[in-house]
Amino acid sequence: MGIVKERIKNYKLLAFVILTYLTLAIFMPDKAFLSFNNSLYYVKEMITIMPVILLLTSLITAWVPKSTIEKYLGKGSGVKGAIFSFLLGSFSAGPIYAAFPVCKMLLKKGASISNIVIILSAWAVIKVPMLLNEVKFLGSEFMIIRWVLTTISIFAMAYITSKIVKRNELPIEETEHLSSANVISINKEYCIGCGLCSKISPNHFKMANKKATIISQDINANELQTVNEAIEKCPAKVIEFKSETI
Ligand code: SF4
Repeated sequence: MGIVKERIKNYKLLAFVILTYLTLAIFMPDKAFLSFNNSLYYVKEMITIMPVILLLTSLITAWVPKSTIEKYLGKGSGVKGAIFSFLLGSFSAGPIYAAFPVCKMLLKKGASISNIVIILSAWAVIKVPMLLNEVKFLGSEFMIIRWVLTTISIFAMAYITSKIVKRNELPIEETEHLSSANVISINKEYCIGCGLCSKISPNHFKMANKKATIISQDINANELQTVNEAIEKCPAKVIEFKSETI
């Protein structure tokens, strides 16, 4: 029973969808059938597209260095980065859900939040082949005005989102842990017991008998900065950290 509860907890959304289908099947079987067919269509589409997208994501992860992503899509990439992101989104292919794993990978590699918003938004509403279709059905004047206004909105959204959403609030780096081969060590003999390290990085250092002690070697990417700060600020320079990011 406990295992079932745990599984339901882990797959809350799936459990909710199944429950909704069952309820619908009991009270409105025709609607349940229609809805099930629609879902089946999207699942089939996803099964066809997602392996390619995941392969592409893995290849970029393995082959494109973090420094390249940071240079062209990172916070310091400025106007060039924004234009590059806009073009990347505009010339992309595939449905918008395919963009999410790609964008998560780009974020992990150092792309800025504003550039990710631009890629996602351009991917969703400014696909170049779609613009041609838009001209065909609604005319060029309509398309140009919509394109200009949408583009302005995209850049405005990117700016506002980057001001509101902080990187450490995103679930991108939670699982990014440093290799277990990495070790923090303290030469306790020379520790003067000032307690600074435990204040700066309380998840990794604590004071015991007026000496600093390590309480965890588990450091995720968000915590790396605080550990480094503790090392830098240690007045006795007795903390060492050997690391290699995965
Ligand atoms: S900051 Fe350095 S000297 Fe101070 S308690 Fe920590 S290890 Fe010891």
